[in-house]
This record gives sequence, structure tokens and C-alpha cells, in this order.
Amino acid sequence: MNFEYTEEQEMIRQSARDFAERELLPGVNERDANAEFPEEQVKKLTELGFMGMLTDVKYNGGGMDTVSYVLAMEEISKVDSAVGVMMSVNNSLVNWGLEEYGTEEQIEKYLKPLAGGEKIGAFLLSEPEAGSDATSQRTKADDKGDYYLLNGVKNWITNANCASVYLVIAQTHPEKKHKGINAFIVEKDWEGISLGPHEDKMGMRSSDTHSVMFTDVKVPKENRIGEDGFGFKFAMKTLDGGRLGIASQALGIASGAYERALQYSKERKAFGTEIANHQAIAFKLSDMAVKIENARNLCLKCAWLKDNGKPYGFASAMAKQYAADIAMEVTTEAVQILGGYGYVREYHVERLMREAKLTQIYEGTSEIQKIVISRTILAD
Ligand SMILES: Cc1cc2nc3c(=O)[nH]c(=O)nc-3n(C[C@H](O)[C@H](O)[C@H](O)COP(=O)(O)OP(=O)(O)OC[C@H]3O[C@@H](n4cnc5c(N)ncnc54)[C@H](O)[C@@H]3O)c2cc1C
Repeated sequence: MNFEYTEEQEMIRQSARDFAERELLPGVNERDANAEFPEEQVKKLTELGFMGMLTDVKYNGGGMDTVSYVLAMEEISKVDSAVGVMMSVNNSLVNWGLEEYGTEEQIEKYLKPLAGGEKIGAFLLSEPEAGSDATSQRTKADDKGDYYLLNGVKNWITNANCASVYLVIAQTHPEKKHKGINAFIVEKDWEGISLGPHEDKMGMRSSDTHSVMFTDVKVPKENRIGEDGFGFKFAMKTLDGGRLGIASQALGIASGAYERALQYSKERKAFGTEIANHQAIAFKLSDMAVKIENARNLCLKCAWLKDNGKPYGFASAMAKQYAADIAMEVTTEAVQILGGYGYVREYHVERLMREAKLTQIYEGTSEIQKIVISRTILAD
């Protein structure tokens, strides 16, 4: 075992940290308050190659390993999770799925511009009545010979407006249940696609979230991913990697709040001494540090498994459930350590607490991760 980062991994982490401090920190609270899309910031992130960092260089990606991805996601999400989630969706849910399962033509036409930063992608699985139970897809993709006709509604879609490439999951053969589901590459500007208003969210308010409506959208046959009926498996495989992205995001949110609370506790005085000298506060910091270390180790182990071609679905469910749950705990304690200052926007920790909540919900709630984990251990 080797617990040291390579020189390259350390460099990527430092570069993500510098970027976050320099480009994301100024204005992050204002963007959140105004639910303002971080257009300039995402453009710069793309120029640095982070939006396609996991994809092979031969497809215009950064060719970086998953350990580096975890480190970069942590650093970005420490400061601005709304940007973190865009990076996670593009890398893990869109680019990875195309690289792994796309045809040569699909890779040429869609993956290369996505990994190279010319385009942004979105992943459309959830529906108004199909969230945790993703098998009950109501969006229909009727087979019309040389094309599919797409009709239905997708909910809560990250990157819905800024993306130009959608990966859409839809039902083709309802009688076959989840084995009748397909995945398609859809271009956002095709006729019959419309967006709902930007969602007014509790946290990550500047990330780009909308519902997407499909009315008689013609999808060419060659835009189906994999064999007929592969869509559900495609979505689940893709989410295995996506969950590691969100686990790393949760880790970043927790460590961002912890670093702020640690600093504050050494400066704020109460009863004649810095509050860090009160054991109640020191023990909170100790608990936070242990939880963050555990979450980081779960993320890095999962990344290592993925980088070494080993199964990582179980590890990503563990990492996501644990990191999301401790992000909620750690950010709540950070607010407590900052007292009244923790409750106002200026000190960032209240925003981090709102952001932490979402990591327990999307890409499979904490309850769904426990289903995945318990099924695996009970099957052994
Ligand atoms: C801001 C935001 C961005 C998102 N981005 C995307 C995106 O880009 N693409 C996309 O496809 N989706 C996206 N989602 C959707 C997200 O993945 C779903 O909200 C999530 O999977 C939960 O589904 P749901 O909201 O329908 O809740 P439900 O499935 O209705 O769950 C409600 C509650 O019931 C619990 N529950 C459900 N089933 C069980 C069970 N069997 N056992 C125990 N408890 C259970 C859940 O854990 C939860 O607590 C996003 C959501 C949000 C809020």
C-alpha cells in the first residue's frame, strides 16, 4: 500500500486549490444569493481542462487518473459546490458513459467536444415520478424504424440549460420493465425540447437546474447507446462513477467548513481565551477531523479500485453515503463553532451546510446507498 500522492496528483490538487481560491471564492456568496450561473468561472475551469479531466487524451480529455479527480473535486467543492457539481456531471455521468459505451461515431461527434471543453453535457434520468425508483421511467422512446420518438418530462436536471448534449434515459418496451429501457444522445437544440424555469433551490443555488420536456423529439437510431434495452444498466454503471464524484464533493464541503471552523476557533475569544481552548470546541474539531479523514480514505480507495480496473460500485456507494452524511454533520458543527457568525452569509459555513444537504439526496439518496451496501453484504 502507498498512501502518498504522486507528484502529478499533488500538482493537480494544488492547481485546483489555486483556481478555487483565485477564481471561485470571490463572489461565491453573491452568486449563491442571486442564483447566478457561474459562466466565467466554468469557462476558466474548462480552459484548465477540469471539465474533461478523466477522459483519455486521444479523445481530447486530460487523461488524468481518478485519484486526481477526487483531489480536484474536493478542492473545487470546498469553495463552490455549484461549480463542483457541473464538473462531476460532465466528467462522471456524461463523458465516462460515452467513452466506455459509445460507438466510434458517437465518440467522434459527441465525446471529443465534451472532453475538449467545447461542449457541456447533462444526464437525464430522474422524472417527476421516478427518482429513487429509476426503473419506473415514464418518458417514452417509441421505435419508429430508423428513429425513436421521445416524449416525456425529466426533473431536476443539472446543466440543463448550459449543456448542448443530453444523455437521456427512456422506456422503449414497457412490458420488459427495466430491460426495455434505453439511453440516447440527444442534442438540446432539437425540435420539441423545452425547459422549465431555473429551480429556486436551498443550496448550490447557482448550479443550472431545470426540468426538461420532450414532445415528439426525433432521435436518430445511431444515437442509442449500446444494444436495445441496455439503458438501465448504462445508467446504473454510470452512477457508480457519478457517486464517487458526489462523495468527493461532499468531502470538499465538509473539509471547507472544517478549515473555516478551525481557523475561527483559534481567533475568537470567549471567557478570556480562544474558543479552541474550550474542550467542548476542541473535541468537536477532533470529531470533524476524524470523519473527514475517513470520508477521504473511502473516496480514495474507490478511486484506486477504479484506476486499477477493479469493481468499485460497492465502494462508491459506501463513499457517497458516508461522505454525504458526515458533510451534513461537519457543516452543522461548523455553524455551531462560529456561533452567530456561522448563521450569516458572510462566513460561508451556512452556505456549506445548505450545500451538504443536497449530497444526501442526489445521485441516490443516503437511504438508497444503504440499500446498495446492505444488499451487497447480505449477498456475500
Ligand atoms: C439540485 C438537484 C440536482 C439534480 N440533478 C440531477 C441530474 O442532473 N440528473 C438526474 O437524473 N437527476 C438529478 N437529480 C434528481 C435526484 O437524483 C433525485 O432527486 C434523487 O434520486 C431522489 O429522487 P426523488 O427526489 O424522486 O425522491 P424519492 O425517490 O421520492 O424519495 C423520497 C424519500 O424516500 C426515500 N426512499 C425512496 N425509496 C426508498 C426505499 N426503497 N427505501 C428507503 N427509502 C426510500 C428516499 O431516500 C427519500 O428520502 C437532482 C436533484 C436535485 C435536487
